[in-house]
Amino acid sequence: MTPLHRGDRVALLVPATAAYVETVLALLARGIVPIPLDPRLTDHERRRILGGLDPTLVVTDEVVLADLLATHRPDEPATAWLPLARPMHCTSGTTGTPKGVWSGLLDERDARALVVEERELWGFRADDVNLVLSPLYHSAPLRFAMGTLLAGGRLVVPGPFEVEAVTAAIEQERPTTAFCVPTHLERLFRHWDTVGTPDLSCFRLLAHAGAPCPDDVKRRLLGTFPPGSTWEFYGSTEGQFTACRSEEWLARPGTVGRARPGRRLSTDPDGTIWCVVPRHARFGYYAAPEKTAAAWRDTPDGPAFTVGDLGRLDDEGYLFLDGRREDLIITGGVNVYPLEVEQVLREHPDVVDVAVYGVDDPTWGRRVCAAVVGAADEQELAAWCRDRLAPPKRPKTWLVTDDLPRTLTGKVRRDLLAERTPT
Ligand code: ATP
Repeated sequence: MTPLHRGDRVALLVPATAAYVETVLALLARGIVPIPLDPRLTDHERRRILGGLDPTLVVTDEVVLADLLATHRPDEPATAWLPLARPMHCTSGTTGTPKGVWSGLLDERDARALVVEERELWGFRADDVNLVLSPLYHSAPLRFAMGTLLAGGRLVVPGPFEVEAVTAAIEQERPTTAFCVPTHLERLFRHWDTVGTPDLSCFRLLAHAGAPCPDDVKRRLLGTFPPGSTWEFYGSTEGQFTACRSEEWLARPGTVGRARPGRRLSTDPDGTIWCVVPRHARFGYYAAPEKTAAAWRDTPDGPAFTVGDLGRLDDEGYLFLDGRREDLIITGGVNVYPLEVEQVLREHPDVVDVAVYGVDDPTWGRRVCAAVVGAADEQELAAWCRDRLAPPKRPKTWLVTDDLPRTLTGKVRRDLLAERTPT
């Protein structure tokens, strides 16, 4: 048996279960850093990520273990030491290899401040029942699950997301809170169109984040769950930056809310969003000092960081996202925000889902492309865009597809769509 010491790192490659959260809490209590990872990683991805994080131990199930044993070379023992453990979460890897996010500045007092802050924001209580819908290697669902357990509440973990199992769990377990990504909501609403909507009056808090929520899904959410129970926030593995109540969204459709307490948001002239955070919420990227340095800058209000998202703040400080800097398409010298084009296409009655992305182009530098799920034909969509978008924003290439490739954290894999697009 591998002896574990304070500061060691333990990779978790297991599906979401209650035992998963117990394991995380047990490791944290001993000063050991849990690294929650996607159990479905391929051998190649696993090697790349584990190689960079250098865990002392890998906790896994029989299926992954068999795979690991067939391919694994023993790693070097861990050498780095972290002053205090808290899950070292990896980002989703939507824009490249997942980055290990760790809070190297944390001491006991800061860690406690983080827990208190979460509790104050979401009001976790002893009578809460948290329905776990997202994989626990994603930071937000794990924060919800741990916050609930620390308050004395209970978890319901139906396993990998299946609409039938989630609906049954709502009916039988009567959860009070849940965190989800917009694709979960879309899938549940489609299912409930057929089987009927369960009684949702048990929910006091339903929060979503992680990807843009289409307008129709958002309005249905607000009309279906109990008034005042739904929240959106904008955040990433690096932290949660905003919070938005339903009435705030209804008054300013499309906003992801204002800076949460203790945070200050600003945007550069090019739209890059920066966030000043309190000391206890600072972080770095594990073994990637150049990435950490690029994420932070000094401001008169204190150090601010960016995760590379673009957006605008209105006069009252409400944030509207324009997308990610990596997704911005510069075509013929003009900036095109995929989100804006996607919103226009989504309004077409025959479009079920859509993603806009760029590919290299000898004339334009980058060419605007759209992948569409639904019954609409190309001519019809091109005409729709001609009436609603300036010429550079109109997609030049269309990809009709049955489904959009997404990460389990709900993000569209634009890189895979670009690979499938004819040059
Ligand atoms: P990587 O940095 O490795 O590419 P990732 O940034 O996709 O991974 P996460 O930390 O899971 O990994 O995702 C955070 C991103 O999700 C944010 O930077 C933002 O682009 C997007 N996001 C989060 N909340 C919202 C929201 N409410 N609306 C729209 N997009 C959101």
